[in-house]
Amino acid sequence: MNNLTTYRRLIVPSDVKNLFKDYSLSISGLMTGAASNAKIAKNLKIDNIPPAVILHHLPDKQISEVINKDNAAQTINRRYVEQLAELSKKFNLTEKLKTYSGCAYSSSGCRRSCLVYSGRSNIFKAVQYARGRRTLAAIDRPAEYVRGLIYSIGHHYKKQNGGALSVRLKGTDENNLHFKKITLSINEINNINSYYGLKINYSDKPRTISEIFKNDSIIFYEYSKAPLTYLKRLTALNIDITASLVADRITGAADAITAVKSGYRLAVPIALNKAGHIPRRLIISDNTGRRVSIKCYNGDLFDYRPANKKQCAVILKAKKSAGGDILSAFFIADKLGPQIIGGGIIELIY
Ligand code: SF4
Repeated sequence: MNNLTTYRRLIVPSDVKNLFKDYSLSISGLMTGAASNAKIAKNLKIDNIPPAVILHHLPDKQISEVINKDNAAQTINRRYVEQLAELSKKFNLTEKLKTYSGCAYSSSGCRRSCLVYSGRSNIFKAVQYARGRRTLAAIDRPAEYVRGLIYSIGHHYKKQNGGALSVRLKGTDENNLHFKKITLSINEINNINSYYGLKINYSDKPRTISEIFKNDSIIFYEYSKAPLTYLKRLTALNIDITASLVADRITGAADAITAVKSGYRLAVPIALNKAGHIPRRLIISDNTGRRVSIKCYNGDLFDYRPANKKQCAVILKAKKSAGGDILSAFFIADKLGPQIIGGGIIELIY
């Protein structure tokens, strides 16, 4: 009997290894699986929906807040984190961080009530520390970071034993990692393919992450508050996009109508009186007379948005985040009659 076993060894290139070492990151921990994220864990309960992994960074300008010793934030998850300040100094990032924003399309309402500040993040400082390390690493060496993501996605894909995996890179910010082009050598691709069971082909041209995984059962999906041109750039990369209503933005109504008319579904955060009891339809009109009337679906049953139809409303229950405001103009109230939003009106139909 032949008991010989072939062991496939993963050879992680030194640039990725060094980045991970510098920021205390790991292939398995760079992205978060269902075990550590209640929202994407819901995907597992629905038939025919692939499991998801999600990337968590610090949103907006939070990275410069957490390295600021004079930051007088009230809540744990917005406070100073000494280790992150040390890391930013060590890798000369302090100047760069002053102008950095992870959420170029955010509004004052969403920044204040961002879901990043709800749940476990306000109990354990370690959550923000981990998100901060990833954010710093991505700012410091974006190409190496995206190469690291290839390994992390491969790691989670392998756990599915050939089944599909869904991936969100904009889990808690609006980073531009989808557009970053990177190069993988032939040896690296061969090693990744044989170790993780992937089908990446070789190209001598730099490619984005979704182009690299185009032959594999890896489905990218995101929510975005960005304007239509940006949404279309993501769509062109084969990333499923759900536009997000920004009700407190001056062009909130117009942007939402433009997105729906262009074929996107629309995520709408509503301060629901009762979880699961959602309106049947909603109507948005803008100040120029344009109007859309769309069917509503409960977006909290699962997170895998590609399973929802296009040009519908995905209703998400607004949650109070630490330091946030559930009555903010960013959230739609759960009530009859027209409500004024930026540049127009929304009406919920029950
Ligand atoms: S709600 Fe979204 S866009 Fe707004 S600050 Fe949070 S992550 Fe950024």
